[in-house]
Amino acid sequence: MMASLIEHGIRSPAVLQAMAGVPREEFVLDGDRERAYADRALPIDAPGQTISQPLMVAVVVEALELHRGDRALDVGTGSGYQAAVMAACGAHVVSIERVGSLAETAADRLRRLGYDVEVIAGDGTLGVPERAPFDAIAVGAAAPRLPVALARQLVPGGRLVVPISNGPNGEELTRLRVINGRWVTESLGPCRFVPLIGADGYEGADTG
Ligand code: SAH
Repeated sequence: MMASLIEHGIRSPAVLQAMAGVPREEFVLDGDRERAYADRALPIDAPGQTISQPLMVAVVVEALELHRGDRALDVGTGSGYQAAVMAACGAHVVSIERVGSLAETAADRLRRLGYDVEVIAGDGTLGVPERAPFDAIAVGAAAPRLPVALARQLVPGGRLVVPISNGPNGEELTRLRVINGRWVTESLGPCRFVPLIGADGYEGADTG
C-alpha cells in the first residue's frame, strides 16, 4: 500500500508516516482483514457505506496540510479510519457521523486504539459550531454544492477539502482556503464518494 501511495504522488512525510502507522485492518469488516491494504474502498457495517480507498484518504489528508496541534473536523466518520489518519498527523480531531450505530462503533474503536478523536453523532453538513473554529475540515461524502456553514467554521488560513457534485460525471475534489478574509477554491481532480445527506446536503431517509 505504501509503495502505491508514493507512486501516486503522496509526498508529505507526516501523511506517509500516518498511513504506515494506522492499522487499517482494525477498521474493516472481519471478512475483509486480508484485503485491508489493497488500494480499494471496502464495505463497512452500514448499507451502502464504505471505508474510502487508501489513496483517496491520503490525498484528502495531504490536502488538509495538517500541522501538529491543529484542530480538525472530519465529516462522515464511517469506520473512523480517516479520522485516525488525521489524528496520527498530530491533529486534535472532532468527527461527526449521521448514522448513530456507526458513530458508536467508531468511537469505541478509536478509543481502544488510542487516537485523539472525539466522535459526535449527528448531521455534519452544518459543521459543529460548538467546537469551531477549525484549522482544517475534511468531508468524506459528496456534497451537492459548497457547504457554506463548514467554510464559515475555518480560521484565517484554514482549509476545507470536500467532494462537490459535478452533475452526472461524479464529483470534483475541491479545496477551499481562507486567504485574507476571502474564500479561494481550487480543484484537486475528479473523485467518487457516497452522498452527503443532511440539512445542507442531499435528502435521505432518517437513520438511528
Ligand atoms: N472517511 C470514512 C468513510 C466515510 S463514508 C472512513 O474512513 O471510514 C461516508 C460517511 O459519511 C458515511 O458513514 C455516511 O453515513 C456519512 N455521512 C453522510 N452524510 C453525513 C452527514 N450529513 N453528516 C455526517 N456524516 C454523514
